[in-house]
Amino acid sequence: MADKDDLNFNEVDEQGNELENTTKETHTDDSDDDGYEKYCYLCRRPESTVGRLIHMPNDIYICQDCMQKTFDGLNGGNLQFIDMSNFDMSKIPNIGMPKSQKIKKPKKEKKEKEPELNLSNIPSPHRIKAMLDEYVIGQDYAKKVISVAVYNHYKRVITNTMDDIEIDKSNMLMIGPTGCGKTYLVKTLARLLNVPLAITDATSLTEAGYIGDDVESVISKLLAAADNDVERAERGIVFIDEIDKIAKKRNTNSRDVSGESVQQGLLKLLEGSEVEVPVGASSKNAMVPLTTVNTRNILFICGGAFPDLEDIIKKRLLKSSTMGFNAELKDKYDEDKDILSEVAVEDLREFGMIPEFIGRLPIIYTLKHLDKDAFVKILKEPKNAILKQYQKLLALDEVDLQFDDSALEAIAEQAYEKDTGARALRAIIEKFMLDIMYQIPRDDNIGRVTINRDYIEGKGVPLIEMRGIKVPEAAQN
Ligand code: ADP
Repeated sequence: MADKDDLNFNEVDEQGNELENTTKETHTDDSDDDGYEKYCYLCRRPESTVGRLIHMPNDIYICQDCMQKTFDGLNGGNLQFIDMSNFDMSKIPNIGMPKSQKIKKPKKEKKEKEPELNLSNIPSPHRIKAMLDEYVIGQDYAKKVISVAVYNHYKRVITNTMDDIEIDKSNMLMIGPTGCGKTYLVKTLARLLNVPLAITDATSLTEAGYIGDDVESVISKLLAAADNDVERAERGIVFIDEIDKIAKKRNTNSRDVSGESVQQGLLKLLEGSEVEVPVGASSKNAMVPLTTVNTRNILFICGGAFPDLEDIIKKRLLKSSTMGFNAELKDKYDEDKDILSEVAVEDLREFGMIPEFIGRLPIIYTLKHLDKDAFVKILKEPKNAILKQYQKLLALDEVDLQFDDSALEAIAEQAYEKDTGARALRAIIEKFMLDIMYQIPRDDNIGRVTINRDYIEGKGVPLIEMRGIKVPEAAQN
C-alpha cells in the first residue's frame, strides 16, 4: 500500500489550502473561449452556476464542489490506498461535450452589434398588424388582438416591469378550426419580431415520469431555437398546439397523465418560474447538462380546434336566454357560423380545461373558418404565396407562369372539400404542378404557361405559348 504522503492530494484536510492550490490550475485564460459555457465533468452543472471550474488535462473541468467531494472521499473513505503518483491524466479519453449540449454564454458585445428589441424599435400594434397582413390572409380580429398583446408584452419585458405592474401576463389562447392559420400566425410573428419560437404539440406531453415529453421539454426546445442562448430564450415565444387534447378526461377512473396532469404541469411555466432544463435533449438524464431558464418573460400561446365547443356554447346561450323562444334561438345559433367567437371561460371549463389553466391565459380569441375566397387570396396574395414561389422558379427558366382566375377557384373548391383548411392548398397545387415543372424545362421555346380550370379538373391541358407564337399544347403533339 502506498504511503499516504505519496498521494498527490495529501493536504486535503485543510480545505482552504487545497482549494488555493488547485485553483492555480483554474481555467483562467479566455484564449480558448468559444462562447459556450464550460461544464463540470462530474455534476454537469455549468460554470455560471458552480463558479470557476478547475481545468484538468484533456479539457476536463471539475467544479470545486466535486473536487472537494472527491478529496473527502479519498481522505475519509476506503480509498486511501490509491496511488495517484503514477496516474497519467493524459490517458483519459477526451470527453469534451458536443456543441449541441452546450450553453452559449451571454455575449455583451453581440448585443451592440445586433439590435435587440428595445423601446425605440419595438413595432407599435398597427405596424405589427400591417406586417402580419403581408403574410396572413383574413383573421383580422385575431391579428389585432395578437398585435396589441405582443406589443404590451414586449414593452413590459424591455422595461423590466413584468413584476411591478399588476397586469396579467399576455399569454394567449387561440381557438380556431384546423388549417385556419394559428401556427402560421405565430410563426410569422416570431420571425417578424426576430425572437426564438418553439412549437410543440400538447399531445406529446405527459406528466413527468411517464412515457412522453415532460412539460419542461418545451423550454428545452425554445433554448435550442435560441441557439442555446439563455437570455434570448427568455424572451421567446412558445406555441403549444392541440391544447384541446389535454382537456380533462371525462368519466375516467385511471390517472389522467396526459390530460389534467399536463395542464397542472404547465401552470408554473405559464405564470413564470425558474425551470431547470436539459441542454440539447428533451429529457433529463445523468449525461445531459442542465441550465436554468426563467419563464417569466416568455410569451406562451396555446392553440386548439376545440371540437364540440360550439355545442357547449350554444347550450349555455340557450340556457341563459329567457324561456319560450328556445326553438327560434336554437335555429339562430345553429345557423351562426361565428358562434365560436361567443366563447366564455365557463365553456372552456365545461370542455375540460381546469380553471387555473385558463386563468393563466388571459387573452382568449377565436379565428374564423376560411372560405373559398380566402383560399384564392392565400394562393396569390401573401408575400410568399405558393403561386409566387412557382412563378419565381419558372422565371429562372425564363418562363412566365400564369393562373386563370377560374383555375384558382377550382383549386379553392377542391381544398374546401377536404375540410382541412388552407393546409390542403399546397398539396393540391403540388400535385398538378409536378407535370408542369417536369415538362417545361424540356423545351426552351416555351415562353408562357397559363393554367386554367380544365387542367385543374383533369379535363384539359394548360395553355402553352411559345416565344413569339401562341399554340395550345394539344396542337403541338
Ligand atoms: P392551424 O390553424 O391548424 O395551425 P396552420 O397555421 O398550420 O393551421 O396552417 C397551415 C398552412 O396553411 C400554413 O402553413 C399556411 O401556409 C396556410 N395558411 C393557413 N391560414 C392562412 C392564412 N390565414 N393566410 C395565409 N396562409 C394561411
